[in-house]
Formats: sequence, C-alpha cells, structure tokens
Amino acid sequence: VRHHHVVIVGGGTAGISVAARLHRQGVTDIALVEPSEHHYYQPLWTLVGSGLTKAGETVRPQGKLIPKGVTWIRDRATSADPDNRTVTLGSGDTLAYDQLVMAPGLQLDFDAVPGLAESVGRNGVSSNYRYDLAPRTWEFIQKVRGGTAIFTMPAGPIKCGGAPQKIAYLAADWWRRQGLLDGIRIILVLPTATIFSQPDWAKVLVPVAADYGIEVRYESQLVEVDGDSRRAVIHDNASGTKETIDYNLLHAVPPQSAPDWLKDSALADPASPFGYLAVDQYTLQSTRWPEVFALGDVANLPTSKTGAAIRKQAPVVVANMLAAPGRKPLPARYDGYTSCPLVTAHNRMLLAEFDYQLKPKPSFPVIDTMKPRYDMWLLKRYGLPALYWHGMLRGLV
Ligand code: FAD
Repeated sequence: VRHHHVVIVGGGTAGISVAARLHRQGVTDIALVEPSEHHYYQPLWTLVGSGLTKAGETVRPQGKLIPKGVTWIRDRATSADPDNRTVTLGSGDTLAYDQLVMAPGLQLDFDAVPGLAESVGRNGVSSNYRYDLAPRTWEFIQKVRGGTAIFTMPAGPIKCGGAPQKIAYLAADWWRRQGLLDGIRIILVLPTATIFSQPDWAKVLVPVAADYGIEVRYESQLVEVDGDSRRAVIHDNASGTKETIDYNLLHAVPPQSAPDWLKDSALADPASPFGYLAVDQYTLQSTRWPEVFALGDVANLPTSKTGAAIRKQAPVVVANMLAAPGRKPLPARYDGYTSCPLVTAHNRMLLAEFDYQLKPKPSFPVIDTMKPRYDMWLLKRYGLPALYWHGMLRGLV
C-alpha cells in the first residue's frame, strides 16, 4: 500500500484543474491516477464535427499537463473504499490517502440504444461525443445532398446539454450555404418539453431552429437504430407512440451515466438513477466522508455538466480541502454556475450562463449574449481553448 496525502482519480478537466491549484497552494504529496496518455479539450469536438477545426487541435499529451511535482500513476482506479481511505488500481495495487478527489468523468452508454453501438461510425451514424467519431460527423454531413437528417439527445443528465442541438444548427448552416437546405428534412429529437433548460435562452433558440426549418420533437427519444437499412425508431414519451424514420444522417448523443465501477459503490448517490456521486451541492464535499470531494461530470449536481462549471468548482474544492480538517462550515461555496456556448452558425454564438436557480450569470455584463454574436463565436473558437490550456489547466483562472 502506497500512501499519498492527496489522491486525485482522473486527469481530465476537473482532475488537472484541482491538481494544479493544490500544487500552487503548496500541497506537496499529490498522486494523480489517470490511465490515458492523451488529454482532450472536448468542447471543440462540436467544431470538429462541423468541419470548422481539426481533431488534432483538441488533444495534448497528458504528461505535459500534469504539474511537475505531482506523481502521475498511469493506471485506472477500479474501486474506492472510503471507510478505509483506499483506492484500488487496475494493477491490483492499493493507494491510501488523507484526502480523495473523485474526477473520473462520466461514461458513454452507446449500448443502451439497441443498434447504436454497432452502427456508430458507419451507415451515416455518428456522434461528436467521441474524439475518433467527431471527424466522421463532418464526413457524413458533407455527403448529405437531400433526404433526412436526425439529431438526437438522450434522456438523463449529459455533458454539455447544448451539444446535441449545436451540431444540428451547424449542419443546417452548412447545407444552407451549399444551397441544399430546402431539400433536407432536419429533425431534432429532445427528451425535454422545452428546447433548453434555461427559459431566457430557450426563447432565443426556438426561432433559431425555426429559421433553419428544423422540426423539433419534444419529449421524444431515439430507441433503436437499424444501420444497414438506415432507419431510426423515435419514441414519443408524451403520446407513447413510436415512429420509424428513414435517415441519410443520424447524429446520436449516447445516454450517459457514472462509470460502472462507481455506480453501485458507497460513493454513489442513491438518489441518482445514473449512479452519479453524492456530494453537498455547495461545498462539493462527500455527504458521508469529509475527506472525500467530487467534481465535474461524475458529481451528482443539479446543474448542467460542463467544463465551464468545473472552472468554478475547482477553486471551491481546493479552498475547502485546505480548510482545517473538520472545520465547519467550509469556507467556499459553488453556486451552480454553468455555461453553454450555443453555436448557432459557422460564425455566430450565444453564450448561455446561469446558476442553480437558472438565474443568468453573465461573464460579460456589458454585451448582450442573448443574441447570436460574432465576437462570441471568436471566443468559442480561439479564446476559450487558450483559456483552457494556458489558464485553467495551470490553476490560474
Ligand atoms: P473528463 O474531462 O472527461 O475527464 C475524465 C478523465 O478521467 C479522463 O482523462 C479519463 O481518462 C479519466 N478516467 C476515466 N476513468 C478513470 C478511472 N477509472 N481511473 C482514473 N482515471 C479515469 N463544456 C463546456 O464548458 N463548454 C462546451 O462548449 C462543451 N462542449 C462539449 C461538447 C462535446 C461534444 C462534449 C463531449 C463535451 C463538451 N463539454 C463542454 C463538456 C466538457 O468537456 C466536460 O464537462 C468536461 O470535460 C468534464 O470534465 P471531467 O474532468 O469531469 O471529465
């Protein structure tokens, strides 16, 4: 058994942000458990899927991002035992900790929709949710000259709730610029009763979809894919009816949940049907073990799962970890801030920012981000990636 003062599970957006901040604060004995050699900036995958940037721009070697002085354990965690303060690794080794940060992200459940796992990447079916598949989305979009394109969002909490519709707008914008839009039927399938969770931005998005002639199916979901015959089955949850639709392109966002090894663990929130981890929504501390914290996509928080949310969560986790053990109340609180850059065309973006109460929380109060804007598009394409690699992952912003 190896002991480290802090063990962090996962070196994605959340894990690296916390490691960098703890390291800057002078914490010396930190171990980061992360099996992957690569680190991905996933928000750009929407732009990869629409041909606006290359996949290679979204990946960097993990080794260059882990702060020097932090011990990188190149393995995956397979179980956590919070009563004994240990984490078990794929190798069979055990790590002991004084404080644990859970940040392994979430799991994509392509298998949860019959036929989807078998078809994805072929037969006109793609998904921007995977690095290897985002470039296929762009290939398939370019092949469509007419017919039907379906874009689907699964039920349950997912990362970046806006991504399932952003790609529909970008594809429609491309087809319009090619003079093809009138001949293509576009269907956006949403499990929700509204187009977006935050009502002010929902009001803006309804006309954006209408302008492209997108048929929005509310309270509906993809329940089956037959890739060989290019047919998708859509279930209308409100009426309980099913419809089979022939498609030329299907962009499917898979159902998502906590990683299997955590779903039934002591850390999972019994109130979460998807097995996400139980933490206090303000302090991000485990509801049962004060030395355990969780943040990012794996945490069961009533807000939208995004990298932007993590930018506000990481400083809270670090401040609360550094507070004297047992100190109550903990000094820092997360207000549920999240943000979704809703790309509406190849040169336009709406920046939705809000908190647990769905109250708008603008970072740029002087500009009207409720309108699709070119300056916001530049922020998405160039500003935010730079902020991510050079600011957030270094614990600076
Ligand atoms: P991740 O960044 O996914 O990292 C998890 C890490 O844990 C990975 O490195 C993984 O290898 C590692 N890991 C997994 N299992 C284990 C294990 N057992 N042991 C150890 N390590 C493990 N966010 C925005 O803010 N704005 C956007 O515009 C936006 N657009 C998006 C578009 C798409 C298509 C997608 C897919 C995501 C988008 N997001 C966006 C969401 C954002 O990328 C995620 O919310 C964020 O990356 C989550 O960070 P995380 O650290 O929780 O998980």
